[in-house]
Amino acid sequence: MSSSADQAASEAAQTRRAGAILTVDLGAIAANWRGLRDAGRADGRPVDCAAVLKADAYGTGAALVGPRLAAAGCRHFFVAHIDEGLALRAVVPDHPIYVLNGLLPSTEPDFVQAGLTPVLNHLNQLNAWRAAAQRYNRPLDAVIHVDTGMHRLGFSPEEAQALAADRGRLRGLRLALLMSHLVVSEEPDNPINGEQLSRFRSFVRTMPGAPASFANSSGIFLGPDYHFDMLRPGAALYGINPLPGRPNPMLTTVTLHARILQVRRIDALQTVGYGAAWRSARPSRVATIALGYADGYFRTLINRTHVHLGGRKLAVIGRISMDLVTVDVTDVPEAESQPGALVEVLGPHLTADDLAEHARTNAYEVMTALGRRYARVYVDSERHA
Ligand SMILES: *Cc1c(COP(=O)(O)O)cnc(C)c1O
Repeated sequence: MSSSADQAASEAAQTRRAGAILTVDLGAIAANWRGLRDAGRADGRPVDCAAVLKADAYGTGAALVGPRLAAAGCRHFFVAHIDEGLALRAVVPDHPIYVLNGLLPSTEPDFVQAGLTPVLNHLNQLNAWRAAAQRYNRPLDAVIHVDTGMHRLGFSPEEAQALAADRGRLRGLRLALLMSHLVVSEEPDNPINGEQLSRFRSFVRTMPGAPASFANSSGIFLGPDYHFDMLRPGAALYGINPLPGRPNPMLTTVTLHARILQVRRIDALQTVGYGAAWRSARPSRVATIALGYADGYFRTLINRTHVHLGGRKLAVIGRISMDLVTVDVTDVPEAESQPGALVEVLGPHLTADDLAEHARTNAYEVMTALGRRYARVYVDSERHA
């Protein structure tokens, strides 16, 4: 067998054994990236579009998403941790990879050897990186992150002023990017956006010649003032709605199917699951599905969401267990006649944003919590088109 036939056979076996199957459409992620890039280009200026691949590309799999986006034309990548950068470097050899969490003590050799670029979040990190440039006797790329209101990471206003007053602090470094991060970009009318913008602009003005990046996914939709030289989307690439409360302009990129393990009939007034948290009002049919909170199906979904079978809605009933969840199939007799049938948990009928609303969280948490026990199938809607 050829290695691609081997791979197909092993994928088929994995899918047969799996309780749940996550399908990731790499073509849809690439199409979302192009859509965001084009939103930047609509300004008539050459605005670059990076990709944020932290947390394993928001749960979709950085090892495949990275190369696919590079093939689509993406030339800048962001991760949170050094180790995420090292893993991505193995599959994205030729483009800058920026590490948002910054330069941890004594990790300079890790950055230099893998050609990773630290996002410098305070003056001490800048000093350590400059010392590394001296030791290695070569110019090193650096990103300066300035805090304009998030108050988590980044140069404080005083540190930013100190840097602007003495550019010699950058000697031996090549300033690859100035960046800052928006606090409420998904709320276009919130005045904090404009306040951060004016702080960031003032900082950028003190550092002439360096490219700048400000907008995350929702920030892109705040308009051209927020675009600067490089967009920095994560969520929207993976199909999360960057415009809460408005129609989602992005393509869905993941579908999750989980298997029915057993269907049982129960009398009226019987309880289902731990804690007796659901009680049947009538004689019912209950299907038990191979999915639980250990797979990122949150316990807060109790009695609040549904799955789909053949386009029909099935209410999730009772507590979510670690490995199992129960649904009411009383009105869907075909659930009983198809052992091992797959129900749709996430997909066209119920998006990550919908599930997040049911779980009282956001789609970022739904995506990054996607389980490690799923069989993963990668498709590319653009390559079959
Ligand atoms: C996560 C992150 C992004 C991407 O944000 P999205 O809202 O997912 O587009 C951009 N910049 C920084 C600094 C981040 O931490």
